[in-house]
Formats: sequence, C-alpha cells, structure tokens
Amino acid sequence: MNSWLRQSGTVLRAPWAWGRGLVDELFPSICVTALDSDAGRRWLAEGPGRYCPRCGILCGPYAASARGCAACLKKPVPWQRLVRLGSYQAPLDGWIRDMKFRGHWTWAAWFGSRLAQAVPADGSAAGPAIVCPVPLHWWRRCGRGYNQAHLIAQALASARGWPVVQALRRVRHRPAQSTLPMAQRVANLRGVFRLSQTEVRGRTVWLVDDVKTTGATLSACTHLLKRAGAAQINVAVVAVAEPGR
Ligand SMILES: [Zn+2]
Repeated sequence: MNSWLRQSGTVLRAPWAWGRGLVDELFPSICVTALDSDAGRRWLAEGPGRYCPRCGILCGPYAASARGCAACLKKPVPWQRLVRLGSYQAPLDGWIRDMKFRGHWTWAAWFGSRLAQAVPADGSAAGPAIVCPVPLHWWRRCGRGYNQAHLIAQALASARGWPVVQALRRVRHRPAQSTLPMAQRVANLRGVFRLSQTEVRGRTVWLVDDVKTTGATLSACTHLLKRAGAAQINVAVVAVAEPGR
C-alpha cells in the first residue's frame, strides 16, 4: 500500500491497524506476490452458463432459465439477475479471506475488473447503471481499514464507466453473518441498513458484495433499493457459497 488515505476515503486505517499498514508499506511485495501468483494468472472466471442467473448457485445445463432454477421458482430472489466469478471454494475462498482478514485489499481491484467483464452493459431510461456496494458498519471498517465491497465496486464501475453510489448505510453493528447459524441471519439484519439521500429512482443498480451465502444481506439491501424506486436491481458477487457445502 502506498497511501494510508486513499481517494474517496475507502482506505482508512485505525490506529490499531497501523502496524499492519506499516508492514504493507515496508513489504508491498506481499500483495504483489499474491496477485502475480501462478494460481492467480492461471485462474479463469467461469462462464455464465454454469450457474443460475438469479440465485447464482451451480446448476447443470438446461436447469435454469432467465427466471431462475427450480429453487428460485419455488422461492424467488428479490433481485433481477446475479453475476459471479465462481463458487466459494479453493482458490477463490482463500483469496477472499486474504482480502478481508489479512489486509490484502488489492485483491478487490482484481475481482472488480473481472466482474466488470461478466456484467452485461445495460441501463435504464434514467441513465447508465450505477454501482452500489453493500455497506460496512463504520466500526468494522475502522478495524479493517477499508470496505472490500466498496473497493470491488470501484474497480467494476471504473472499468465500465459507471458511477459508484453509496445508496445504503449500515447503521447498526451486529455480529458478522458468517458467525451465525443460517436460521438467525435474517433476524440479525433487521434494521441494520438505511437508505442514504442518494437518488436511485428509475436507475439500474448493480449491488456489489464479496460473497453470497444465504442471500439475506443482499435481499435486505435489494428491498430498500426497491423502496427507493430503483428500476432494476442486479447483483455482482465474487463468489457464491453452494448450498450444503
Ligand atoms: Zn436459482
């Protein structure tokens, strides 16, 4: 990392994170090595035909239409379409954990640029699509130093020439979804998100996050964006956790 304070304030380090930042300053090759690894160079994002275009889970050929797979038809997701790079399994899962928990934030630009290649070009009568990251609570962001979803969104938006809009705020600090049983995840998000004053009415919104597991977080955000009048809400995630794995 060459700067502790990045443009638009996406990388801000709390005092207790300075030690980690100092290591990055002194040994930037840690990040570079990860991005230039053989695995990283060889890895290719999967094609869109391998997963359900609504919920994003792996499914066989002829097992999903534009309306979704059998699971989606039974319980529809609130967003219109989903784009992903792969399943939450090796090597993606390790790279995502490095990005979130080991300070390897530069993975986010790599993920975002590849998602941009998978996202179809579209907009609405109100203008080009806008990119909205799933927000992180300020307390967690201080500890981590950045919101990885925001960094991914910035890279995606930059590649497509679309604006990043922080249409949502996370106003309550709750336990991380990944630490909770599936049954508690919807309740854990109650009242967590709020709409910002940003105008999304009539726009196509690409909601960006790192991982979709149950979809509870993305659903909560989608419902708010719909309430704000967004014309269409799509989802772009790095990885989807397959059910039962
Ligand atoms: Zn589906």
